[in-house]
Amino acid sequence: MMFALQLCPYYFNNLGSLNKFNLSKDISIIGNTADKVPSAATIARADDSMDLNYLREVLGEVYLKAKRSKMINPYCGKWIGIIDAHEICSSDIHRCSLCSIRNVSKIESEIKLNYYHRYTAFILTGQKFCFMLDIEPIYPHEGELSSSYRLLERVCRDYPKAFEAVSGDALYLNGTTFSLLASLGKYAVAVLKDERRYLYEEAISLCQISAPVVYEEENTIYRVWDHTLTGMWDGYKGFVRVIRSEETKTVSHHCQDLGKWQIQEEKADWLWVINLPSVVSLKNVVSICHCRWQIENCCCRRDSKYLERESRIQAQPKCNKCFYSFSFYCAKYL
Ligand SMILES: [Zn+2]
Repeated sequence: MMFALQLCPYYFNNLGSLNKFNLSKDISIIGNTADKVPSAATIARADDSMDLNYLREVLGEVYLKAKRSKMINPYCGKWIGIIDAHEICSSDIHRCSLCSIRNVSKIESEIKLNYYHRYTAFILTGQKFCFMLDIEPIYPHEGELSSSYRLLERVCRDYPKAFEAVSGDALYLNGTTFSLLASLGKYAVAVLKDERRYLYEEAISLCQISAPVVYEEENTIYRVWDHTLTGMWDGYKGFVRVIRSEETKTVSHHCQDLGKWQIQEEKADWLWVINLPSVVSLKNVVSICHCRWQIENCCCRRDSKYLERESRIQAQPKCNKCFYSFSFYCAKYL
């Protein structure tokens, strides 16, 4: 617990590395932290000795406590999980046996290796608060989907009633993901953006011959189409719904003339493929499809910023996983 308290200022302040945390003064309510917190090496060593399964059990207990105390609530009437991959640290110097490697040289004839770690992360989305449930490493020479299937199977086993649907980006738009989630009793939501796809062409042509549902919400006018299609992939025989949302947002900017406002319209065109049942209202479906950004905005963007350049974390593979999980534990516990 003390360790969590000590780590929190690092987590919640934009320090960039544990070494900076060690040297900082007056960065939190703790006051002058110099010489009062563990060194970067100690934090790395402690993380490396942690039992990851035990840590997951603790995260599970925190989730149950949060759920019982109504700290987390459904999103638009549904419990939604979001899955996405993120790079959490990289280094040109330090590496471990599980580092992925890439050439970052901008000169064709030159090789400059960079070592990095990527994870798939799973969060539970909420109106006010999103909750990280688990992470899974993307090992060298494997893709995001392989890692995500391991993660999905584990979160469905460990949190069977925590969510009803899983949302992902365009990478998750495939028969294997939809079938896996259906076999685990979950609905799927994925972004459709490949214009070469048959699904995309079919959805656009159907939208041209049918009228949208139109509504307005928070300065935005939504024109939404909903079409049900079947037999889209060999690996998935069920129906899917293609949702298209044309959104026109009215925003006002300061004009060059002092004290005057300029009204501007911002347009966006979104497409998703889902298999949520039609009992969910179209308005809620669009909100649920949009909530995928929470994983970027509320969790991983901040974390990737915090962990980059952290060589001591980078250098030990288990330490890396534990540190990341433990950071979430700290964020949730306090
Ligand atoms: Zn490594």
